[in-house]
Parts: sequence; structure tokens; C-alpha cells
Amino acid sequence: MNKKETLSFKNENPFCLYDSNSRLIHPRLYETFLQPIESKQLKDDGIVFQHMNNAEFGVIISHDVDHIYAQGSIENPRYKGGLKNLSQLFLHDIKSRFGSKQSPQRIRKNEFDIYRFIDWELKNNISASYYFLSLMESDEDFNYYLDEIQDVLLAVAQSNGEIALHGGHQTTIRLDAMLSEKSRLESLCNKKINGFRSHYLKWTPGQTESILESANFEYDTSWGSAQQPGFVKGFCTPHPVWDAQRGCYCSWIEVPLIAMDCSFFDYMKLNQHSAWELFLSLVNKVKSCNGILTILWHNSYHKHLNFYWKMLEFLQQQDCTFDTSHGFVQQAKNSGYIDRVKHYYGT
Ligand SMILES: [Zn+2]
Repeated sequence: MNKKETLSFKNENPFCLYDSNSRLIHPRLYETFLQPIESKQLKDDGIVFQHMNNAEFGVIISHDVDHIYAQGSIENPRYKGGLKNLSQLFLHDIKSRFGSKQSPQRIRKNEFDIYRFIDWELKNNISASYYFLSLMESDEDFNYYLDEIQDVLLAVAQSNGEIALHGGHQTTIRLDAMLSEKSRLESLCNKKINGFRSHYLKWTPGQTESILESANFEYDTSWGSAQQPGFVKGFCTPHPVWDAQRGCYCSWIEVPLIAMDCSFFDYMKLNQHSAWELFLSLVNKVKSCNGILTILWHNSYHKHLNFYWKMLEFLQQQDCTFDTSHGFVQQAKNSGYIDRVKHYYGT
């Protein structure tokens, strides 16, 4: 770099990101987090994740299912004419004066429609990972009982999708909460649940590691940032996790989350163009490490669906392989990749 350029704005911003108010986002805030340093170093030292058909990189499409139902209110009847209608109005009036408060009606909301994702995945023969809450009505952020969304669970299974646990607020600090949420989901699906992602991407270092271990999970995919897309601890490849508390590697492995819907638009408040530039840069960085791009798109995040479909269309034209998180985890373990990474960092 020419020394004088230190005094220009040019190199301050390698790729210009603008928020929705046309304000320049200063990339130094985000710079380190946008470098997959560890995965790159592993590759440079010859430890490479081999993708199926020698593809350049992998893609995981994942959906956290926070909401299916919305609270709708029962509409007040209107005067349309006729005696019958009058008596209905009268009855409604009496009820509202003397009856107990009407309980709101729960309805499946069109904006949260999960079938548009399942249908696309089925049509394109791509398997995605779905993380379902497994809560009781008294739990924080309860939205649905698993047994009332059996049609959804069945449709995911029929599209060869993965069903995994989206752990509620208590799971990362309480083993009993983790175990009951996991067993509820397992009994409803009638199969073992291997994967975990916490709601809000919550994590309590020194506790969550051993809770996941005791609950017998094969992998976690909560290591991502809501504030911005990028690479937690510099990884875009699955990796073992060292439990500093116990002084050993955890039996489960981490599949880092790279890009979440709301991080682009709600946290960074990017405009569409800059969100796309950032997405392309993430793809290139993952590609340079033969890594895996894990995308989280909530079924309830309907604001920027055009961006979601554009991402998928673009990725389908790339030399990449799509699979579920669990699919990549099995490949990472069975190929000996995880053991090689452990050996690299020291056993
Ligand atoms: Zn969630």
C-alpha cells in the first residue's frame, strides 16, 4: 500500500457496507470476526475437510422453529341485517358484559408458514435441519405443543429433513430441563435426537458443554453471533470442543453457525445491496477453507424472503454440497477429520 493511502478513506473500507439509513458501516468493528483464521490455518497445514464429489464447500440450510401460532382475537360480530344477526349481537353484548374475558384464539399464521421451506427442499432434493422448541405452556417463549404440530414433524421427516432440538431458555444451564425437552421431542418423533441449537444462541461457558455431554448429543450448532454473520473462534469447519473445566475434549462436536437472517437486517441493519455483498464475501471465505456455510433462516422471518430465495438460487449454481448438520457431522467423524483436528491441537 502506498503510504499516502493511509490518509485516504479508501482502505478503511475494503468492501463498503451501508445500513438501511445509508450510513457507512465501519468494517474494523467486524474485521476479525469475518476471518475464518483457524479453519484457514488447518487447511494450510494439510487438514482439509473432504466434501462429497470433491465439492469446494458445504452448505447447511437450517430453520429454528420459534413460532407457528399467533394470538388472534375473536372478531366482534357486525350488524348485517336480519333478526338472526340481531340476536347474535345481543348475545355477544350480554356475554361481554357478564361473561369472563374471551380467551384469544390461537391460529397458525400464514407469515410463519413452514411448508414453503419444506416444499422447496423436497422439490430440489435438498435436506435441511429443523430445530424445534419442546416447551410446556408455562415455559418462557412457549408457542406450540409438539403434539399439535405432528403434521409438520411428519412433513420434515418425509422431505428427508433432520429434526433436532431448539433448546429453551433453561437448557444451557439446567440438565433436567435439557433432558425433559429432549425426551419429549424424541418420544414425539420416535427417534433419537442428535443435534442441538439453543434459543437466542444462549451459551454458558463451563456449564453448557457438560450438559450437552450428559444429554448425549452428537453435535451443537449454537456457536454463532446474532450481532453479525461470521466465524466464532475463527471456524467455518466442524471442530472438537475442549472442556476446560474437565480438561478433556467433549464427546459432541461443534458445527458453527455462520449466517442468520436477522443478523443482516435487524442487528447490522444492512440495506439489501450490502447484505448481498456480505453474503458473497462469506461464501468466498468459506470456500477458501473448504468449510461449511451454515445458514439459519427462521420460518417466522418473512420480511426478507426474497433475499433467502436469492441466496439459495446462487448457492445451487456453486460447486457445493448440501446436507443436514447431522449428515456433515457423521462425515466429519467417519472420515477421521475430527481426530486429525484433535491431534493438531493436542490430545
Ligand atoms: Zn429461537
